[in-house]
Amino acid sequence: MLDSFGEALKDSLRKLLKISLIDKKVLDSFLSDIRLALLSGDVDIELVNSIISKIRSRAENEKPKPGLTQREHLINVVYEELVALLGAERGKIELSGKPTKILLAGLFGSGKTTSAAKLAKLFKKQGLKVCLVQTDTWRPAAYEQLKQLAEKISVPFYGIKESKDPLEIVRKFSQDYNRFNVVIFDTAGRHALDKDLIAELKALDAELKPQEKLLVLSADIGQAAKAQAAAFQSAIGITGVIVTKLDGSAKGGGALSACSATNAKVKFIGLGEHIDDFEAYEPKQFVSRLLGLGDLQTLLEKAQAAIKKEEAEALAKKMLKAEFTFDDLLKQIEAMQKMGPLKQILSLMPGLGMAKIPSELLQTQESKIKSWRVIIQSMTKEERNNPEIIDAKRITRIAKGSGKPESEVRELLKYYAQMRKLLKSVGSEKQLAKLFKGKFVG
Ligand code: GDP
Ligand code: MG
Repeated sequence: MLDSFGEALKDSLRKLLKISLIDKKVLDSFLSDIRLALLSGDVDIELVNSIISKIRSRAENEKPKPGLTQREHLINVVYEELVALLGAERGKIELSGKPTKILLAGLFGSGKTTSAAKLAKLFKKQGLKVCLVQTDTWRPAAYEQLKQLAEKISVPFYGIKESKDPLEIVRKFSQDYNRFNVVIFDTAGRHALDKDLIAELKALDAELKPQEKLLVLSADIGQAAKAQAAAFQSAIGITGVIVTKLDGSAKGGGALSACSATNAKVKFIGLGEHIDDFEAYEPKQFVSRLLGLGDLQTLLEKAQAAIKKEEAEALAKKMLKAEFTFDDLLKQIEAMQKMGPLKQILSLMPGLGMAKIPSELLQTQESKIKSWRVIIQSMTKEERNNPEIIDAKRITRIAKGSGKPESEVRELLKYYAQMRKLLKSVGSEKQLAKLFKGKFVG
């Protein structure tokens, strides 16, 4: 979704940025672009019609806020209406109980087990004591899957491998739960919400009385999320939704807007296979990222988890100023390796989200990064700070010193130049994003 859906929305904004006077023709064509983007994101046609007419009416009738040009006003209206469409408020988890019990429910393959572990890691990072309980007795591999994920993130795991009875499992460990702040229960799925699944979930609900019952939905079901959320709501009652696989689906807009239209609050989103590709859903941040307006806050939070706060801030500043040297590049590459895929990180940066980023910049493999590190370490301090001075002679020396082929040294120089060019090229878009940060976003 952050790819195709976001790309289409960004394209329409990019077009708008090139036009200075917004007349009826420009507005019509802009709205028709937005409309197409929403429809291709599988947003329900009635919702699309309603948001388009709201945007039109606000664009035509509302006076821009002081200091905003007409164009900025229009972008702000789009931003606000998209936020309303995709969720409006942030869905929170109240950590009230001792412990807070969270039951995850959903169909086969929706991402329950993966999300259970991701959620556990999120709470753990907040300093909370959390454990995972596997009640899926349906899939033979479920026990091992969650156990391994739990080990990976060093979170206690409970389950009975041979058991066929979810209630037996949750009862056996009931004495242990109050040692934790949060207990997360994974459950079995089915191909559809059948009687069997309803009965199983109802029994678990009655036994555990969880404060949170989260429906796990995959973004690729698009607007069908509406029917599914409604069905689970009437069968067991849900307190919120986790939408997974937003990274891989063009239909994420449909899934999110459908949840919002059914009043099922999206509380978390899954953005990839990796355990850290998961976050609390913040519609405002999400939409500003979607539109390429950037989200420096999330970026800094991610960076802080990987490197020290001051370092992260300094690095972000340098990157935005396009001033960074090879030393910075190295730091940046290292930090980014810890922070997650480059593509995701770049999408968080104001202005960069809207820039077209060359795909080879995004596909830098780990092995390459390792040898680049060696190459950079073979440069003199002067070379690292003033990469322009690196000529053919120096390339030969650096290659020898690092034990890497000259072609690889050249490749790194090219990457550096591209990165710098990219950072410089975001000029006007960056300005716009900055404007947005101050004026409405957040
Ligand atoms: P369950 O049957 O509901 O427990 O689903 P699983 O947790 O086993 O996930 C099914 C598949 O979806 C696995 O291959 C996961 O790696 C994958 N998956 C889960 N969440 C995400 C996500 O946010 N993004 C991507 N790309 N894959 C995901
Ligand atoms: Mg599972």
